[in-house]
Amino acid sequence: MTGIAVLGSTNMDLVAYTERAPRLGETVTGREFRTVPGGKGANQAVAAARAGGDVLMIGAVGDDPYGDLLRAGLERSGVDTGLLHTVEGPSGTAHIVVDGTGANAIVVIPGANGTVTALGPGEMAAIAGAELLLLQLELPLSAVIEGARTAHAQGVRTILTPSPVQPLPPGLLDCVDLLVPNEHEAAELSGFTDPRAAAQHLLGRVPAVVITLGARGCLYAARGTDPVRFPAPEVTAVDTTGAGDTFVGTLAVALAERRPVPKALAWAASAAALCVQRPGASASMPYRTEIEAA
Ligand code: ADP
Repeated sequence: MTGIAVLGSTNMDLVAYTERAPRLGETVTGREFRTVPGGKGANQAVAAARAGGDVLMIGAVGDDPYGDLLRAGLERSGVDTGLLHTVEGPSGTAHIVVDGTGANAIVVIPGANGTVTALGPGEMAAIAGAELLLLQLELPLSAVIEGARTAHAQGVRTILTPSPVQPLPPGLLDCVDLLVPNEHEAAELSGFTDPRAAAQHLLGRVPAVVITLGARGCLYAARGTDPVRFPAPEVTAVDTTGAGDTFVGTLAVALAERRPVPKALAWAASAAALCVQRPGASASMPYRTEIEAA
């Protein structure tokens, strides 16, 4: 059984590429426009499904055309969308301006994601029956906490990506088995910029932490053991968007399959390294055969 439930966001990213971003009150003519399915929840679901997981997405899209596109995209990657509700109003959107240097400015409008404030009996039953629950912080915190509590009460392991980073209520962290921040999020949550110090601090609140370190790999720390650094494969990165979500989604599959942690982390790093060598976020996430081959 590799049942992975993802309680999280689904967004359409609306990306405008331009030489120079406009100042307030200014209009510029850009180069290119793309709509890209995103949202950290949906991205992790796609990564896990492509890696061979049996994945159920819990959340909401709007009753606009983006909602249909987002659902269809998840289903194409093999994600079960039976608990991805369609609600009245717009889907979540991220309005992204990317300038000639690759720097971006983003406005996120939660839309349908913002309506997921509590879980119904169907969602609770699905979480209770899963092997593992993936959580991020792009849904209302009330739902994230309820999901984590439901999982914890049933002995379902939980993995939290603390993004967008914000102060975490103890009630949430008490129900988290594995926290996976990137190094910026780890620094923000712990007050320590050194990943080892950050990990030590975070172990006071959760039993295990993986701090992702971009091209430098990751640091794994669990209570009662010394932190261990795992390198990332050396590759030429063309677009690192979605690397963290690929890492977490793939890691979840390996852990659900009961692979030992070092093997699971190596597998996740291989998948993330494949992702960064191709443009796009969810589009660049690798399938199981590719990860096995790497
Ligand atoms: P996020 O995308 O959330 O900011 P990171 O940048 O830390 O997270 O990347 C997550 C994981 O993706 C890393 O731990 C690593 O395994 C992989 N990764 C990211 N960038 C690279 C890179 N340039 N080369 C190889 N692997 C990478």
